[in-house]
Amino acid sequence: MTECLFCKIISREIPADIVYENKRILAFRDINPQAPTHILIIPKVHIPTLNDLESHHAKMVGELILTAKNLAEKEGIAEEGYRTGFNCNAAAGQTVWHVHLHLLGGRTFTWPPG
Ligand code: AMP
Ligand code: ZN
Repeated sequence: MTECLFCKIISREIPADIVYENKRILAFRDINPQAPTHILIIPKVHIPTLNDLESHHAKMVGELILTAKNLAEKEGIAEEGYRTGFNCNAAAGQTVWHVHLHLLGGRTFTWPPG
């Protein structure tokens, strides 16, 4: 039995507002959105942080990013612009230990991020 929150979303033990799924990837709306569109895109394999990625994950990581691009278009934020990001470990604010790509849009963002 996994204790990982996002693995539980993948297995449907915990509900989520799922917006995209294929064999390798799941995307769902963030429960505490930081922008009008805030979607998390995750691999279905449990990988705790970006530091745990290996070369054989390259195709899957590319697919996470392409999914962000496709969802941005679907959400109507592609033209105005959007922010994507992986938080890795505590200093970057990672709180869930399963790799996830944030897709945020629908407002203006500042740079550098806080
Ligand atoms: P991070 O801080 O980068 O690890 O991002 C974790 C994200 O997961 C946060 O933005 C949370 O709001 C989000 N989150 C936590 N629990 C859930 C949940 N049950 N469903 C959807 N998103 C969640
Ligand atoms: Zn997991």
